[in-house]
Amino acid sequence: MSELNADLHSHSNRSDGVLTPTQLATRAVANGVQLWALTDHDRMSGIEEARAVAQSYGVRMLNGVEISSQFDDCQVHVVGLDIRLDYAPMNEGLARVRGGRMERGQRIAERLQALGIHGAFDGALACAVKPTRLSRLHFALWLTDQGHTHSKQDAFERYLGQGKPAYVEHEWATLEQAVGWIRDAGGVAVLAHPGCYALKPEREQALFETFRDLGGMAVEVVTGSHSEEDTRKYERQALRYGLMASRGSDFHDANGMRYDLGIMPPLPASLTPVWRLWE
Ligand code: AMP
Ligand code: MN
Ligand code: MN
Ligand code: MN
Repeated sequence: MSELNADLHSHSNRSDGVLTPTQLATRAVANGVQLWALTDHDRMSGIEEARAVAQSYGVRMLNGVEISSQFDDCQVHVVGLDIRLDYAPMNEGLARVRGGRMERGQRIAERLQALGIHGAFDGALACAVKPTRLSRLHFALWLTDQGHTHSKQDAFERYLGQGKPAYVEHEWATLEQAVGWIRDAGGVAVLAHPGCYALKPEREQALFETFRDLGGMAVEVVTGSHSEEDTRKYERQALRYGLMASRGSDFHDANGMRYDLGIMPPLPASLTPVWRLWE
């Protein structure tokens, strides 16, 4: 039996992706996605539009979101799947998390200016659909476009990543809030791209244990920012912590991550796919 083509992590221009929800849904159809989740950062406003298109082509969709959260001093992303869209505490919480992106952007630009890079705020803003959606990714796009960095990755490594000179803190949800909102909205919490967090082994253990104890159900194993080595490592971690596994491209745009929407390796056979919950 061939495995279901599930892509449970992707972005539209309602957050920092480049395609509209409709364009993304069309791509999901073209790429043969069978179970899809649009998981914009801290925002669920694109889902209805995407669903209308996906459904008309017979692509099944789960309501999704990627919540920016904080575990101690580490920014951790939690994907929520199959959530209710009308759960007020979650919607109010996400509105708080979304707030202040423009102010943070101004502070990032001030830091860049102090490093001799001028015009970053207007530049990054021009890359975003709306000022309220301004993301570090838009700064990375502008820095690369202007030749200040070689690539988006380089922009994060040199300026924008946690602890780098233009990094500015933002008040995200706590990990507990993120998992709690998702569960209370009837959904399933998935720890997104654990290979990105660069935690020491004991901190990573604490993250996995805390996530699981809060009621987190799954971990992303195959995802756009994971190397093959990361995939093998988090296969072991999923088994160790008794978590189900998820697969999601984290698609933002055609020249971004490693994988196109729905086009990536299958999950390792030893793991229980999180989509068993919806089969
Ligand atoms: P923000 O939500 O504004 O803090 O921006 C985080 C976004 O930047 C993520 O959702 C990714 O799209 C992008 N990002 C973070 N780290 C990297 C990286 N190392 N390389 C490329 N993109 C990244
Ligand atoms: Mn993003
Ligand atoms: Mn993420
Ligand atoms: Mn993402």
